[in-house]
This record gives sequence, C-alpha cells and structure tokens, in this order.
Amino acid sequence: MAVPQQLQLLAPLSGVLMALDQVPDPVFAGRVIGDGLCIDPTSSTLCAPLAGVVSDIQASGHAVTVTSDEGVQVLMHIGLDTVNLAGAGFTPRVEAGQRVEAGQALIDFDADYIALHARSLLTLMLVVSGEPFTSLVGTTGLVQSGQPVLSVGSAGTASVTPEMPKGEALFSPPISLPNPNGLHARPAAVFAQAAKRFTATIHLHRLQAQANAKSLVAIMALQTGPGDSVQVSAQGEDAEAALDTLTRLLAEGCGENVPVPVATSEPELPNVLRGVCASPGSALGQVVQIVEPTLTVNEFGAEPAVERAALTDALVEADMALQHLCDTASGEAQAEIFKAHQELLADPSLLDQALALIDEGKSAAFAWNTSTEATAAMFRSLGSALLAERAADLVDVGQRVLKLLLGVREQTLVLPDDAILIADQLTPSQTAGLNTDKVLGFATVGGGATSHVAILARACGLPAICAMPVQMLALADGTQVLLDADKGELQLNPNAESIDQLRARHERQRQRHQHELAQATLAACTRDGQHIEVTANVASLSETAQAMDLGAGGVGLLRSEFLYLDRHQAPSHDEQVSTYSAIARSVGPSHNLVVRTLDVGGDKPLAYVPMDAESNPFLGLRGIRLCLERPQLLREQLRAVLACCQLTRLHIMLPMVTQLSELRLARQMLEQEAQALGLAEMPKLGVMIEVPAAALMADRFAPHVDFFSIGTNDLTQYTLAMDRDHPRLASQADSYHPAVLRLIATTVQAAHAHGKWVGVCGAMASERLAVPLLLGLGVDELSVSVPLIPAIKSTVRELNLSECQTIARQVLDLESAEQVREALRLHSEAIADTTRILEN
Ligand code: PEP
Ligand code: MG
Repeated sequence: MAVPQQLQLLAPLSGVLMALDQVPDPVFAGRVIGDGLCIDPTSSTLCAPLAGVVSDIQASGHAVTVTSDEGVQVLMHIGLDTVNLAGAGFTPRVEAGQRVEAGQALIDFDADYIALHARSLLTLMLVVSGEPFTSLVGTTGLVQSGQPVLSVGSAGTASVTPEMPKGEALFSPPISLPNPNGLHARPAAVFAQAAKRFTATIHLHRLQAQANAKSLVAIMALQTGPGDSVQVSAQGEDAEAALDTLTRLLAEGCGENVPVPVATSEPELPNVLRGVCASPGSALGQVVQIVEPTLTVNEFGAEPAVERAALTDALVEADMALQHLCDTASGEAQAEIFKAHQELLADPSLLDQALALIDEGKSAAFAWNTSTEATAAMFRSLGSALLAERAADLVDVGQRVLKLLLGVREQTLVLPDDAILIADQLTPSQTAGLNTDKVLGFATVGGGATSHVAILARACGLPAICAMPVQMLALADGTQVLLDADKGELQLNPNAESIDQLRARHERQRQRHQHELAQATLAACTRDGQHIEVTANVASLSETAQAMDLGAGGVGLLRSEFLYLDRHQAPSHDEQVSTYSAIARSVGPSHNLVVRTLDVGGDKPLAYVPMDAESNPFLGLRGIRLCLERPQLLREQLRAVLACCQLTRLHIMLPMVTQLSELRLARQMLEQEAQALGLAEMPKLGVMIEVPAAALMADRFAPHVDFFSIGTNDLTQYTLAMDRDHPRLASQADSYHPAVLRLIATTVQAAHAHGKWVGVCGAMASERLAVPLLLGLGVDELSVSVPLIPAIKSTVRELNLSECQTIARQVLDLESAEQVREALRLHSEAIADTTRILEN
C-alpha cells in the first residue's frame, strides 16, 4: 500500500536527540537494522510514534515494532544490550497484534535500573521497512514525547508481483541457536541482511511458525530463545548457497559473541568469562562485587532560595573532597583526574542550567542531575572518543554532588587482601581512589580499552578487563577467580595447575623486570654493535623526569596538546615557556627533545579553540591542518618552544602532515619566529609519518626535513581504514599488517637515501615483539611509553641486526598481520634459546 505524503512519526519519548552515527553500537550506527533516530531519554514511557498494529513486542519488553496500515514498520529499541536484562526494568502495556493509536503508551521502563544494569539507555526509533524520511527536528537538541520528528514518504517502488520461485524448497538440518537471548534485534538484523543477498524465497522455521527470513520484524516475532531448534528453508535458483551461508551464520551466532560449543565427550571446560584487556597483567584473588546504590531524585523542591543554597553547599563540599583526593593521590595520573573533576565542577554553564531549573521550582538534586546528564549526553553525541571520556567524568562528578544533595554517604568497603573487583562500571574517581594494597585487579561489564578507567588501571599497574558479560555480576562475593587480563579472561574457581602456572609466570616476569631495571642506564646496542636510540613518549614534566631516570636517551615525542587539555583558557606565553623550559632542563643538553606541535582537532578538542563539529573528525581539521587554519595558535607555540632552544637538543615535529605545502608553511613560520628571537641556530624540524600519503611521498619530503617519526597508531588506522578506537575492529586494526610495514620500509629507505634519521613513536615501538622487525626495517630510534624503556632497551641488546634484517625481509612478503606476528613469535623464541645458551 502506498504511504500517504504526510505520514508523520512522533517522538516516542522525551529526551535529547542524537545522530544515529554516534550510537556506540556498529549494528545500529551502521543502519543494519534500519535508519531513524536515537534519543537519550528523559521520560520513562515509550509511546507509539504512529497508529497501527503491534507487529512484535519482544518477551523481554525492551523492543517493540508498530506497523501502520500502509505497511510502514517502525521498530523501537530501548537501551543498548538491554536484551540481557531478560525483562527486568520493563513493563509492557500492549500485546502483539493489538491496535494502537499514535502517542499510546507501549512500554514503561525503569530508567534508573536500566542505566545501572545495561550498557546504555539510548533508545532507537528505526523505520525498518525502508521508506525514505526527512527529519522535522534536526539531529540534536531536546524533543518532547509526542512531538512530530520524522516525515515518512513513499519508498516509490512500483508494486511488483513476486515471481514464483523455481524448484523445490530445500530445508537445512535443525540448528540449535547459540545466542544467549535468541534472535533479538541485532542478530535478527544480521540474519535478515544476509538473507536479502539471495534471490531465493527463504523462511526461518521454529516449531509450527515460520518467518520471512528477509524481514527483521518477522524474525523477531518468532520470539526465539537460547538453544531453540530452528530450520531454514529456501526455494529458488540460489537456494543451496543460501542454505549453506545462513545455516553457518546461525550456528556462529549471527555476529554475536556466543559460547564455543563443547563436545559432550570431552571433560567440562573451566568456567571462563571473556572480555577485552583494559590493562595488562594477571592476578589471583576473590570476587568483591561493587554495587552502586540507586538514587531516587524528587523532581520538585522547596523554595528556590533553599534549593540554591543546598546546591552551593554540595558543590563546595564536593570540591573540598576532590581537593583532598588530589592532595593524597598515589600518582600523577590519579591527581590529574581529580583536578579535571574540579574544573568540571567550576564550569559556569552547568551551574547556570541547574539554577534556571531551580528557579522553575525543581529540586536542587533534580536540577543538577538534569544539567549534568544533558551536558554529558551532548558530549557523547559529538562523536569524539575524548569527549565521550569527558562525559564519563561529568557523570562521575555529577553523581558525587548528587549523593551529597541526597545525603547518600559513600560506602566504605571492607576489602580482603586479594580483592578482584567486579562491577557493572567503575567511575574514573572510583578507580583513582582504589587501595592497590588490597585490590589486585578488576573486571567490568562497561568501559572500553581506551577509557580513563583503563588508563588509570595501567598507571597503577592493575590488571583489568572490560566489556565482560553481564552474567559476571551474579558471581558470589568470595568466589576465587584468576583474572588474566593479557588474555581478556576471568577464570572461575581455577584449578591448582592454573594457579601454579600463574605463580611461575609472575616469578619469571618479576626476575626479568629486576634485571632490566638494573641495566636500564646501559646503551641499547645490538649484539653486532648497532646503536639504537630508545627515547620516551611523554605528556608532562613528571613523566619526562621519570623517563630520564629509567634510562631514556631523550624524549622522542612530547605530546604537547596534553599539557593544555582540561582548561578553559589558552596558556599564556610565559606559562608555555616555563613548561617547555622545565621539560627541556629535565632532558638536558646532550639528548634530543622532540616537541610535537599541537595535535588537536578531531578527536582531541581543546576547550579554548572552538571548532565546528565534524562528521568524520579523524579525517577532518586535525593536527597541522588545524594549526595552519589558526596560524596564531601555532606561531605562539613555536615562539614558546624556541625559548628553550639553548637548554636541550631541540627538535620540532609536525603532526598529520599530508602535503609538502604544509611543511613549507610551517618551516617559514618557524624561521620567522627564530629570526625575530635572534636565534643563531635553527632547531631541527621533522614531520610525523602517520598519513599514508606522507609515507608514499617520503622521498619528496626527505630533502626538506631533518628527521621523520612514524606514528604507527594513526598510520595503521588510515592505511587499513579502521578507526583506532573501534571496539569491534580492535583485533584487525593491527600495525603488523604488511601494508603498514611496507609503508614503514618505504619511509626508511627514502630518509636514509637523504641522510635523515627515522624514529617510530606509535605504540608499536613499545612492543617487544616489534623490536626486531623495526630494527630490521632500518628504524634508528624507538620512542616508547615510559615504563617500558628498560624492557625495550634490554630487547635491543638481545638482537643481532643482520638477523633482524632477514626476518624483516621475510615478513614484508607475508599476507596478514597474524602471519607476521606468528613469524616474529617464532623468531623471538629462537632468540630466547640463543640468549639462554650464551648466558650458560
Ligand atoms: C601515532 O599516531 O602513532 C602517534 C604517536 O600519535 P598519537 O597517538 O598521539 O595520535
Ligand atoms: Mg597520531
């Protein structure tokens, strides 16, 4: 049936709109299920966006589809991964098959419970029948439940009489569904997409019911559960191929992580839960569950003057608590988090928003909560990993004030000496405040490997795993577990053999570490006499001092932007000079200090450099591109950096260089500033090789630079076209891919042909496994993360350059990153054997 010109869809909820691209879930963001919009809800009843029939409502109550008389199917999905809640927190108000009016209540939900127990509350409204639509409200801002938000037009397809499929219907053998929640929206969408690639007529059968396999809604309406037996049937020319592909897809979980099937004749596997490594290491200990109290916030308050005073008192008290945490923090990374939280508390716009709500009669708690949540939602919607981190900080600091307003005291946990914390999510301040004498590690359901929580865990050397299955939250306190963050595994009730292996591993690591530390100040020379400069990647003065103490041969990368994040105003010239000079003094006159000019823009915004939102921030105005658009910013930085010219062997490095013209413009600016300061000698000027264009044109750049430093983190993401922070691509976005290695080889050849040196400052340089490869490719300098300096120097000393060159030549011809890693592993085992023989 044709869709009338003006079929308007109403907002199913009140809340903050968010572009679908920004939803942190590739199936939704990639529109695999359908196009539409996303709302971060502020109301807790989901209402029908159009009149029609409830064509599906999931038994778990988290998703519902309404189909209009014209056939427009609109699916609403409350929260992300909420299927795992198995119905808890949802109260359906309608049944499948029921007719509903636009605006009618469909599902009530407990927003607090869901926010606490699921990955996210973000709610999707998707036009799954595929009609085009236009937005009536833009992609951001507030919407009210019932407000028209989309105008759906006709798909414009002439109705086609379906052809009768040829041949007999073929049936697959029965398949037991491995998905822990059956075929809910995400796996159903993946299955329907795959089915659509075939011309055959395809059905999915469960008991007596069957569904058109190309219809997401029909598949969801089958209401399948884990272990259900299903069959696929296909009729048509490519029926056999369809059955083959679709049965395999079903058995593998349709894109979901599913348990590996266990052969019944084999002994039971140890009970292992899997996630993603957030901080390496391993520990044996007992489970301590961290459960956050549910906070109940009343919307209306007393007189505005009373509520204002309550808010002011709570803010003062929170600031004092943060100052205390800052003063007593066990490390700089921890103190930085609390300082950043103090900055957020002082943000005038947060306070203004809250005060305006109080003036409307709202309670201080409600006003503060709304203001912080709305700002956090706005941060999250901007598509930047760094701003998403700020959102986590804002929620964290918001909760601190909210608890004070509600009189909820922080729980003091009595911890055993070997606690492994299990939590839905830890906040940055909880992590920074952990007692590392008692806490040996943690595992969380939420979080990501690049989150602040992960960074803090690495800074305190605590093993940690994130993205764990929600079932972990049911583990009893006191259960013995082995947390192997290196493998991303939590082993429950480990046997004696696993425990012995862990202890032996710890002992080997401890001995090796002590040996490396004792030799940290020795030069890094290969067995056949090639000297390699091992320098440090730093972002602060204290890190620089620590690096020099650990034997760094200088600083190969000062990420200067990190000196100026988390502040509202640009640093003055004097402040910049004093920061750079202190770092230069710490490095000293006989070592290199490579200062990278501001690499902001895109994923690393600076609060005092307003930038337009970009749909592809990594491909936008980043690094040198932004600096050349705001030449004053770069000029001021160069002037301040030049002031420390006499204190060290100063090198200036430009990030994200793609064009020769960028290098020329920056050099011109540097020369002008050096001349204005009357400097007799120019500092060295180099570029980062992190855009494939620059690597491929390295022979053209080489005559115009003093050095190159290869940023393998960005070079990998741009070469492989894989976002460096993408959780699902994390294992594929691998710097060991031969394509990346070939670009490194090209760069080194071009540089050496012009007598210039090449460093690597991406994370790859900090991996032992990569050292023989990088040396063999001819890299002259490895700039590594501070704690790893002794380990990388010691690895260099175990190698023979000529053997490194052989292995490097071999791996350049391999096909994949896995093959390269395997070849390097074999090589490093052979070296370990040789080292043992030589040492005995
Ligand atoms: C890189 O891209 O490898 C690099 C060192 O720069 P950053 O990680 O700071 O982007
Ligand atoms: Mg980079």
